[in-house]
Amino acid sequence: MDVNDHAEELASDLGVDKEEVAADLQNLLEYSVPIDEAKQSVRRKHGGGSGGSSPTPDSVDVDEITTDHGNVTVTVRVLTAGTRTIRYQGDDITIREGELADETGTISYTAWQEFGFEPGDSLTIGNAGVREWDGEPELNLNESTTVAIADETVAVDERIGGDRRLADVRAGDRGRNVEVRVLEADEKTISGRDGETEIREGVVADATAKLPFTDWHPRPEVEPGVDLRIEDVYVREFRGVPSINLTEFTEVTPLPDPVSVAEGAPRRSVADAVASGGMFDVEVVGNVLEVRDGSGLIERCPECGRVTQGGQCRSHGEVDTEDDLRVKAILDDGTDTVTVVLDDELTAEVYGGGLETALAAAKEAMDKEVVADTIAERIVGHAYRVRGSLSVDDYGANLDAEAFERASDDPAAAAREALAEVGE
Ligand SMILES: [Zn+2]
Repeated sequence: MDVNDHAEELASDLGVDKEEVAADLQNLLEYSVPIDEAKQSVRRKHGGGSGGSSPTPDSVDVDEITTDHGNVTVTVRVLTAGTRTIRYQGDDITIREGELADETGTISYTAWQEFGFEPGDSLTIGNAGVREWDGEPELNLNESTTVAIADETVAVDERIGGDRRLADVRAGDRGRNVEVRVLEADEKTISGRDGETEIREGVVADATAKLPFTDWHPRPEVEPGVDLRIEDVYVREFRGVPSINLTEFTEVTPLPDPVSVAEGAPRRSVADAVASGGMFDVEVVGNVLEVRDGSGLIERCPECGRVTQGGQCRSHGEVDTEDDLRVKAILDDGTDTVTVVLDDELTAEVYGGGLETALAAAKEAMDKEVVADTIAERIVGHAYRVRGSLSVDDYGANLDAEAFERASDDPAAAAREALAEVGE
């Protein structure tokens, strides 16, 4: 249903002019108010009461729900229930969110008020709104939604509860519980929407992965070396990788036994690492196919650090540029390719000299490209083991290297081995 369909339905329910209703709805939608909230608001404005006169919608299976549905009734099992405060129309409101499932599938939900259900509960949810979130349908539970215990337990294949290994969390996950060792933690002041805010940032690890975290309600007990069970976190993408977010609702409990932490980074095939949508700490082995433009001796904006072209920064215009060294190399392991980015130190290692050496070589040749050419001669066609943080965006996959070493392994064999490990 589009705005016009909703407006037509509301206008006929309320007995008012459709154009007026459509204008009210459009105005609310421009402020990103979900369609169901917007309709409730328009109903109230025209004295229609909160429930409206629509009959209770038909029961549907979860896998039948599409973003074309207005409202639905479902009988489901609660898989997860996270708690979070969001800023909504200028007010802080506490919402609950997570996943629901029946035999046919799972769906995310947001509850705009407290219904009191917990993971494992079987429920019949009446008149839940459907909205599109990230291209998928999501259920909106609001004041016109009814929630009742279902007559029978809803059998589902999915895991009930939010416990996950770090390797299995994904951006967008909510209501997750993790058991981790804190590796790094630092207090930081950021300028947020309410002025200066103290947060705590760092890195946590378990046997499967390492991930960055942010505690928005900074807890001093989240300190390096401690082993913790952390309940009710949400996961969002931060610089292209999943990041664990703690809120005021998150519960942190010390664990009696130490959490085992993987020594090295998990080895993945390039295809697997890219398919995961981003990994904070991963190792791949592949052949360097090519050194890309923008490698070797480069110039950066002193304000923002962006690489400049002809002394021009995209944000700051003409600037006094700073020289730097970098490599962007295309690595292929037979499953896929990734652009490996080496910082100044790793570049100096593969080049065999630092900035001064590079500047001298460029001066002598009267051409900056000689630096990139030398680097290409040394690394193209050779196999490398690369460890770092992999991010994926619209332009492709980038691996910010922390380690870049010649590998004796055959990359294709290494990729097959990594695939086999994942399959276990
Ligand atoms: Zn700049």
